[in-house]
Amino acid sequence: MSYRPYQQIQRRPSRQIRVGKVLVGGDAPISVQTMTNTPTEDVEATVAQIRRAEVAGVDIVRVSCPTPEATAALKEITHEVNVPVVADIHFHYKRAIEAAQNGAACLRINPGNIGSPERVKEVIKAARDYGCSIRIGVNAGSLERHLLEKYGEPNPEALVESALWHADHLLQNGFDEFKISVKASDVFLAVAAYTALADACDHPLHVGITEAGGKRAGTVKSAIGMGNLLWAGIGDTIRVSLSAEPEEEVHVGWEMLKTLGLRHRGVKIISCPSCARQGFNVIETVATLEERLAHIEVPMSLSIIGCVVNGPGEALMTDLGVTGGGGGRHMVYAAGKTDHTVDGGDMIEHIVGLVEAKAAALQAEKAEAARLEALSNAAALEAPQAAE
Ligand code: SF4
Repeated sequence: MSYRPYQQIQRRPSRQIRVGKVLVGGDAPISVQTMTNTPTEDVEATVAQIRRAEVAGVDIVRVSCPTPEATAALKEITHEVNVPVVADIHFHYKRAIEAAQNGAACLRINPGNIGSPERVKEVIKAARDYGCSIRIGVNAGSLERHLLEKYGEPNPEALVESALWHADHLLQNGFDEFKISVKASDVFLAVAAYTALADACDHPLHVGITEAGGKRAGTVKSAIGMGNLLWAGIGDTIRVSLSAEPEEEVHVGWEMLKTLGLRHRGVKIISCPSCARQGFNVIETVATLEERLAHIEVPMSLSIIGCVVNGPGEALMTDLGVTGGGGGRHMVYAAGKTDHTVDGGDMIEHIVGLVEAKAAALQAEKAEAARLEALSNAAALEAPQAAE
């Protein structure tokens, strides 16, 4: 969290629920989700894809459950992965019940297409029996017919009315372990609907722009829509929907949270666009470093700047920095101060080594702080007994 007032985001207060081991809402960190695109019954492929998403930093993964074979596969999948799995259910309420029985941590249902209130009731019972939470996933593309007739088109009021009606239905059944999404592919509609819903209830919100598009356009669209909401403090868990691999969605989700200072993970690279002044090829260097440093989990910042115009200034704000110099030698900064120079040819390996060493040191500091805190807690617990 930044100490600068202009960088503070006040998150909307919300109730907290649990998706497996991940808390969602309240003061829990905003979680990053993605969804698999393998056939769920292909356990090996699905587990492999979830593991790639885990490496990218995913907190929760959703899988489609359109068939009994898919829900049966959940049993093995949920055993093989480390993150909670959300079962995505459409049309067939029985898939929701099977998913709950087979290890899903959360059931994503679109009540508009799950059928009668009795069927929704059975889904709620299964969720309660097996300790699942629920996501009410309202979508502009599949609103209930009576709302379309009432409003003439999917608009913010219709999305919010649908969401609140279903929320009320769950509450009337004594179930409050749920979060809500009101997704639309149009950013204006999605932002207006989420903003109105955020005002109307305190349930945790799953935020996303649905069917956002391919990697480039979808990233921009999601960043505008979701960024707008997150900046306003709205959103307890997020999923960036891209026509791209799940780990790409995770990377983009993380970049949004990092940009807004809402959560930190891994290396945040500050880099210049480069120009004729650059002392080394900034674009290639940054692309290579993004890949080489993807495994780092400890939050830290790294500036990669082509020349002295902006290099020293950016290095002041980052943990490590490199600024292009003349004659193929570049300046390395540590904690904002000039430290040493490096040859262009050795630069990538050198930076990777510095970042890994810094990450190890930060990790060790964190572990030591945790150890000291545990010792002091244990001492505090023992003190009254000693006095007795
Ligand atoms: S920092 Fe230097 S190399 Fe990078 S864009 Fe600015 S002037 Fe060009």
